[in-house]
Amino acid sequence: LIQLSMPLNFIGMIYRELKQGLADVEAMFALLDVDPEVKDRPNAADLAVSAATVRFENVSFHYDPARPILKDVSFEVPSGKTVAIVGPSGAGKSTISRLLFRFYDVTGGRILIDGQDIRDVNQASVRAAIGMVPQDTVLFNDTIAYNIRYGRPAATDAELHAAAAMAQIGGFIESLPDGYATEVGERGLKLSGGEKQRVAIARTILKAPPILVLDEATSALDTHTEREIQEALDRVSTGRTTLVIAHRLSTVVNADQIIVLEAGRIAERGTHDELIAEGGLYASMWSRQREAAEAAERLRQVEATD
Ligand code: ATP
Repeated sequence: LIQLSMPLNFIGMIYRELKQGLADVEAMFALLDVDPEVKDRPNAADLAVSAATVRFENVSFHYDPARPILKDVSFEVPSGKTVAIVGPSGAGKSTISRLLFRFYDVTGGRILIDGQDIRDVNQASVRAAIGMVPQDTVLFNDTIAYNIRYGRPAATDAELHAAAAMAQIGGFIESLPDGYATEVGERGLKLSGGEKQRVAIARTILKAPPILVLDEATSALDTHTEREIQEALDRVSTGRTTLVIAHRLSTVVNADQIIVLEAGRIAERGTHDELIAEGGLYASMWSRQREAAEAAERLRQVEATD
């Protein structure tokens, strides 16, 4: 029995680790073939997507009953609009994206897509409707073409190249000696965090989902790379219902609505200008980030003149 349960525990561990990191979600189930934590109801119908409106209604959630993570969270992402979730580290921002993708079921309230509770429809159809650009993309040990085509295996070469160009990674791929046939991943070419993220964006452009979840990288990218990625993300989110999990504030200024999460509760909501005028938590986070950015810039100038 011990021998039998060991590998199962091991698979469980990998599964939890992958889930925690929001690694390539769809790939995870395909690769590990592990029973997911949430189960479909018998004969659950497909999600029917029309306008692609996302609604959280009084959502509560805990991983461990002793520690509530989300408390009575309600908001809507209207069709084609962008809502950004910001807040201090550990506030529960990434948990919101995990719940929408139905990694876990809510413990209170409900999540609706076009009026359908995501617990009442099958998970595969929910995940097909959502494009997820995670913080850290795990690449398959295969060619860069395969990794991008994973978004839509039937895509033509022309579509593949257009998606890569749109994600600002086409030029880089074409500069490689083997181009799109370059092997990446563990045994192949190692890509930087920013390059991997652009591969994930190209994959999402090919998948063309009605709903997008962008979990912004926490790790600092250089300003140029960050701007390129931001441009690629802006293109892919145009006209799509988009939820941005933002760990930095600079990227959310143009969101239709910003939701400020503090210890699992919504503390403030509004546009950037409204929240700045309010002078609350968002305004103080904003001025702190501005000061830090200005200090870093002064330091760079001092170093440059040395
Ligand atoms: P950050 O900006 O630092 O990424 P966040 O706001 O995205 O933070 P979450 O990742 O949603 O925060 O985590 C919220 C809380 O839930 C944290 O205190 C975290 O420790 C806890 N948590 C996250 N995943 C799990 C898990 N699988 N099991 C138990 N607790 C968890």
